[in-house]
Amino acid sequence: MKRFRRTPQRLAIMKFLAENASHPSAEEIYTALSGQFPTLSLATVYNTLEALKERGDIVEIGPDFDKKRFDPVVKPHHHLVCIRCKKILDIPAKFNPTLTEDERRGFRVIRSQVEFHGLCPECQGRRK
Ligand code: ZN
Ligand code: MN
Repeated sequence: MKRFRRTPQRLAIMKFLAENASHPSAEEIYTALSGQFPTLSLATVYNTLEALKERGDIVEIGPDFDKKRFDPVVKPHHHLVCIRCKKILDIPAKFNPTLTEDERRGFRVIRSQVEFHGLCPECQGRRK
C-alpha cells in the first residue's frame, strides 16, 4: 500500500468528511475548502478521496447519483436519500435485511445497504 502523506490539504479533506453528515461529493468538498486553501485543486480532492478509499478509510456510495459520494462511516449502515436536494443521511437504526435462498438467486451476499428515497423536511416545504 502506498504511503499516505498527511498534508494539510489532505487533513482538511478528512476533517470535512468526518464533520459533514450529508455525504459530500468531491465538488462539494472542493468548493467548501478552496477558500481556506487557494492552491487546492479538484484533482487533489479526487486523488485524496481515491487514496482514502484504497486505505478503507471511506467508502464510495451510490451508484444512482450523477456524482460519486463519499462516506467516512465504513461500517455497513442504511441511508435516507432526498431525491430533490440529493442529501444523504445515515440511519442510526440497526436492522439487517435478509433474503430467502430463492430471492438471492445464487448470489453470495457480502453486505447489504438500504436506501430510503424521499423528500427531506426542507424539500417538502419547497415548491417545485
Ligand atoms: Zn432535500
Ligand atoms: Mn453513511
